Amino acid sequence: MKTSPAPFSIPKLRADLAGRVIAPDDAGYDEARTPFYGGIDRRPAVIARVANERDVARVISVASDTGLELAVRSGGHSIPGHCVADGGIVLDLSDMSGLDVDVERRTAWAGSGLTTGEFTNATGAHGLAIGFGDSGSVGIGGITLGGGVGFLVRKHGLTIDDLLAAELVTADGELLQVDAETHPDLFWAIRGGGGNFGVATRFRFRLHEVGTIVGGILILPATPEVIAAFVAEAEAAPDELSTIANVMIAPPIPFVPAEYHGKLVIFAILAHAGGGDAGERAVAPFRALATPIADMVKPMPYPEIYLPEEEGYHPIATARTMFVDTVEGDAADTIVDRLHASTAMMAVTQIRVLGGAMARVPADATAFGHRKSRIMVNVAALYEDPEEAETHQGWVAGLAGALRQDDAGAYVNFLGDEGESRIRDAYPGTTWDRLRAIKRRYDPANLFRLNQNIPPEAEGS
Ligand SMILES: Cc1cc2nc3c(=O)[nH]c(=O)nc-3n(C[C@H](O)[C@H](O)[C@H](O)COP(=O)(O)OP(=O)(O)OC[C@H]3O[C@@H](n4cnc5c(N)ncnc54)[C@H](O)[C@@H]3O)c2cc1C
Repeated sequence: MKTSPAPFSIPKLRADLAGRVIAPDDAGYDEARTPFYGGIDRRPAVIARVANERDVARVISVASDTGLELAVRSGGHSIPGHCVADGGIVLDLSDMSGLDVDVERRTAWAGSGLTTGEFTNATGAHGLAIGFGDSGSVGIGGITLGGGVGFLVRKHGLTIDDLLAAELVTADGELLQVDAETHPDLFWAIRGGGGNFGVATRFRFRLHEVGTIVGGILILPATPEVIAAFVAEAEAAPDELSTIANVMIAPPIPFVPAEYHGKLVIFAILAHAGGGDAGERAVAPFRALATPIADMVKPMPYPEIYLPEEEGYHPIATARTMFVDTVEGDAADTIVDRLHASTAMMAVTQIRVLGGAMARVPADATAFGHRKSRIMVNVAALYEDPEEAETHQGWVAGLAGALRQDDAGAYVNFLGDEGESRIRDAYPGTTWDRLRAIKRRYDPANLFRLNQNIPPEAEGS
């Protein structure tokens, strides 16, 4: 017999939780419901800033009993805004930000409410690091569960390649310790399968010695030839060097000379995780591609690779992610032509050459199945006026379509609200079916559905 949903009571939730409950009339509600990206205006019934695992289990049970939609938030950088539910409950982990670094064993237990910048600064004090992404304000919760492609991807692999264990509260409120020996199916699934399987409260990571790197910003003029040559150099570079090349119109920022403002540039960030002379040798070919417009590549402590970010910056974005095998000839011409044609406040084609340690992990070892994909490309337009959405969406779709090659995969953490077929692109081959079977085991009612959703395998499959 189907039972009717339990009534929802904010005072009861407040009395039950050790953490903070923020209701629509409370001070701080608007700030707490705002995700990183602008243009997402959802009003949750309540935001629960959980303080511990017991709070997490309690919030899960309230969502389950009342039928209110549950959103899980770590750093709030979900591209489609999955961290906020209209009329639902936001389970906000940002206060669960403890960090316990074991310097001798080079491991750390980290609360999933930490940002990647907070984590990296804290472990960096010991000359230790793992790779997350390119922004220090992203939460370790979302980036880790989706994979994590960042400045150390070629040297040390994805973030999940350093995940040793996690603590997870499942849909039935149980706290599980998950690792290669205990619940190995779940451990496989949470390394790439996103927030579909439970709420991760803590992660245990292996750390690497990453002290002084040679890295930073290198800005070059963007012609098709320089773009293609940059990509070729990034592919030929030693694994120590990972690059992120943003081809974009130069913004009017102080370290770009005024004559280049409004011109097409490669705004690249390079990180050589070996440092020293080897680092200088590895970055030299990039400096030689053209006369640099700005060259801020230098020896630096690894955490400095994260650029300072503006508080309260919430641009509206539309983006498309894909993998390609090459960026040369026509593709490089197309990038240059189309970027010139965009009317967005900021239009960018971001190119990340992969390979190295990431590619040495077997494709079926984790739920991130794109180990052999060679280059990740993200096409994005950032703008302020919601009325312009259609124009910029059309521009993004047009350029992404023109760049598409044979690799039909997609990286789940860069997907927008693009429908089930694109989520399936994130989980190629048998990965999708395996994830659906595990979803059925741990979340048969699909309580964790406000995400890039993997529906539970149907009964009797
Ligand atoms: C500016 C920017 C730069 C980025 N750069 C990179 C990059 O370089 N490399 C890269 O790999 N990705 C990058 N990303 C993508 C990023 O990894 C995803 O958007 C990620 O989901 C953000 O995590 P979050 O915790 O901040 O987001 P949230 O919005 O808090 O979470 C996103 C989703 O993840 C799930 N989730 C989060 N935490 C938990 C948890 N503890 N337990 C269960 N589920 C959880 C939920 O489904 C949630 O809706 C970037 C995103 C932005 C906006």
